[in-house]
Amino acid sequence: MLFFRLGDFYEMFSDDALEVSALLNLTLTNRNGVPMCGIPYHAARSYIARLLKFGKKIAICEQLTEAGKGRGIIERKVVEVITPGTTVDEDFLEKGNSNYLGALAGTGKLLSFAYIDLSTGEFHATSFPYEEGAERLRQDLERLQLRELVAQESLLEESPSIAAAVMDRPGLVVNRWADWLFDLGRGRERLERQFGTASLKGFGLEDNSPEILSAGAVLDYLDDTAKSLIPHVRSVTVYGDSEYLGIDESTQRNLELVRNLRDGDLRFSLLEVMDETKTAMGRRLLKRRILHPLRDLGRIKARLDMVEALYRDQGRLTELRELLGKTPDLERLCSRLAMEKAHAKDLLSIRNALTAYKAINELGRALNCGGTFVSFESASTLAANDLARLMGLRDLLEKGILDDPSILLTEGKLIRDGYNTELDELHKLRDNGRFLLEKYLEEERLATGISSLKIRYNRLIGYFFEVTKAHLSKVPPYFIRRQGIVQGERFSTDRLAGLESDINGASDRVVELEKKLFLEIRDQAKALIAELAAAAAQIAELDAAQSLARAATVRGWVRPLVDAENRLEIREGRHPVVEAHLPGGEFIPNDVILEEGGVVFALITGPNMAGKSTYLRQAALIAIMAQSGSFVPAREAKIGVTDRIYCRVGASDNLARGESTFLVEMNETAHILNTATERSMVIMDEVGRGTGTYDGLSIAWAVCEELLDRIKCRTLFATHYHELALLSHPHLANRSMEVLNQGGEIVFLRKLKEGPAAESYGLHVARLAGLSEEVLRRAAEIMDRLKEGERVLHSALPQAAIQSARQPEALSVVQPGSTGQPARGTSLQVAPEEPARDAALTPEAPKPSTLIRRIAEDIAAIDLNRMTPLEALNRIHTWKALFDGKDTSRHSKAARDNSAPSLFDE
Ligand code: ATP
Repeated sequence: MLFFRLGDFYEMFSDDALEVSALLNLTLTNRNGVPMCGIPYHAARSYIARLLKFGKKIAICEQLTEAGKGRGIIERKVVEVITPGTTVDEDFLEKGNSNYLGALAGTGKLLSFAYIDLSTGEFHATSFPYEEGAERLRQDLERLQLRELVAQESLLEESPSIAAAVMDRPGLVVNRWADWLFDLGRGRERLERQFGTASLKGFGLEDNSPEILSAGAVLDYLDDTAKSLIPHVRSVTVYGDSEYLGIDESTQRNLELVRNLRDGDLRFSLLEVMDETKTAMGRRLLKRRILHPLRDLGRIKARLDMVEALYRDQGRLTELRELLGKTPDLERLCSRLAMEKAHAKDLLSIRNALTAYKAINELGRALNCGGTFVSFESASTLAANDLARLMGLRDLLEKGILDDPSILLTEGKLIRDGYNTELDELHKLRDNGRFLLEKYLEEERLATGISSLKIRYNRLIGYFFEVTKAHLSKVPPYFIRRQGIVQGERFSTDRLAGLESDINGASDRVVELEKKLFLEIRDQAKALIAELAAAAAQIAELDAAQSLARAATVRGWVRPLVDAENRLEIREGRHPVVEAHLPGGEFIPNDVILEEGGVVFALITGPNMAGKSTYLRQAALIAIMAQSGSFVPAREAKIGVTDRIYCRVGASDNLARGESTFLVEMNETAHILNTATERSMVIMDEVGRGTGTYDGLSIAWAVCEELLDRIKCRTLFATHYHELALLSHPHLANRSMEVLNQGGEIVFLRKLKEGPAAESYGLHVARLAGLSEEVLRRAAEIMDRLKEGERVLHSALPQAAIQSARQPEALSVVQPGSTGQPARGTSLQVAPEEPARDAALTPEAPKPSTLIRRIAEDIAAIDLNRMTPLEALNRIHTWKALFDGKDTSRHSKAARDNSAPSLFDE
């Protein structure tokens, strides 16, 4: 959108005018047939903020010369392009959220991805293989919630999966850039120029590292848009896959780490319960840490040390929280300072931040954990003389900047009295001028006898006397008439004109000098940008740590032991979010025990509403909390560091992406099986629910085998397929959520016990939800019949297990109801097969061979010449349903024609 400055308005023309007037509800006018709309220039910010939210980019075209007669066309120029990803204006940013601009390019085998938050100077780059491209990209895009992306055009055109990953994100503004704009040589040169280095080796980049492509493009894009220097971007952090705990896109969403699934709000998210931060910097860092848990044990321990030091020293914790509460957002102030956009109120905020920093720094340095001082993660810690310079700056700001300054440079009101003698003199002169005006007015009132005489000012004629009609006869001859108005007339005098020129002269000089002094002070602050940024980083770290110490204190969390063992041992663990939203003491804690060599796979069964999903998620959340450096909700937790966490839950479709519910589920399952390693943690809730019972059960069964036999990772697998309890393996345990059945009344105990559950009590939950008695009665009837059919299935499953080609010695089947677990490490008992007994219970249930015979007879009887395609399709549908054990009689005429008995038929 081009904002074209015309006098006191920004005008938009043509298509821009049509679109903006519709988006912002502005009146549309036209000039010479061209649609036009405008906004007053002084109110532009709020309109720009709204347009940015709509994902628009705004070019500001200003008048560079004063409007005046006879000087021809006024010179104008686009002075700034404001885009969602490049703005640093606090009015256009969300305080606790980073504001990322990214770039994406391909180099054949690798993808190059970089992102920057210009408002803080944070800059990262990575590369990953093409095959993993779409998944990795989705993971990072979900984590970062970019506002804007510069993407290589051919990449989007030639790779549909990458294009989909990008286009799927609502609110992401995508700029397609021609391929030639992504150039290694140019990118390298731009990055070296930015960092003032001769090579990029110091940042872990070789001359032809792929990361350079996207990182260089990010800076190029900033050059084009922000049109200002960005000295606060002083380094780029190159990261790889092995640095952070991998949490793919759907896992991030399913675990509701920083926003809930329902409406995307912070409420009911993990961040909500961990966030006790006091500054916007701390909040952004905490959020980043939750989304980027670490794999490095040393770094995790260092973070936990800092949290523990504060947790154990509640006095200091309270003191620190108070100090942080008074600390403005130094990170973003630094960026505005660096880009020469900081106004006087910003400098005042920097002063306040520095005042708080002095005490925060002392407090941080005194913190110790177990006798050793805690270490900070931020690379640049401040030496004593840096600190002295920062305190010098604070004193300068204190002396120089007024307490309630103007945010403009054009009206004075910036510099404090006593800072500069020349300015003090001018102030006196200006103020004295005003005093003289008042004195002169008094004199004229006496001389003329007009008691209501007033001196006023306007831009057109300057200072003047105003005389009402009633007193015009008393006006003396030396009054020079300037203007007539309804109520009277306006006059000036020679003396008034003289006073005016004195006052204006002093005022202009005050404004000029104040501006000059202000810019000098700002430059001095800018010279300390690196030190200021380091101070900001320290404050953010302490804030994130104190937030976790505080949350641990109020919520009763403990320090976890994070080590390299392949285990997950959580004693009396709780779900941090569910617990926080239940009345105190109502949450029932549960253990999660998975260990290498022992049980690594827990199959969780239990009724609906019993707490299975809560239990599964709490295990994943506790691991994520621990690896991000937080205490955890448990009595005790030993967590072997995990490389990836997967959380596949429930069913949701992605129709926009052209994926049905079940396809989404299978995509996610395939992704887990293809990428999980022995060090991963897999949470699977109700896999296979989106399809026919037999398809679903078979898939779930096979997925369990794959996880147990090939991947061997720590797994929690919740299911309503009670048949899966037949699966037995030395590393698998059947566990279930306990319920009490008190004469038909179900009480959920929410306690995990060994052994599988007997049933799902789905009808009971349906009753709780208010289904009518009529429906429930019918459902109960149908269930009785289905249970008959289920026995047939049970007789078939042992065969499936025994015939499993993969590791036949590792699998066995136990009979339903048996909670027996084979002794660890021993080979398997193959449970006695009793198909004959089961089959005997359902003599009339059709066997597969009977079904095939019936269908064959059906086919033979068909007269194809008399059948429409739709009838043929319906017939196939009926056969399929028979195989799946479903009935189609209520839906299909063809099925009614079919002679095969249905489970639903009376
Ligand atoms: P379904 O099979 O129907 O999906 P579920 O077994 O997965 O059910 P959850 O969704 O985990 O059950 O839990 C249902 C409700 O029970 C939760 O919303 C929560 O309020 C409560 N709940 C779960 N676990 C506990 C617990 N340990 N202590 C107290 N309340 C709990």
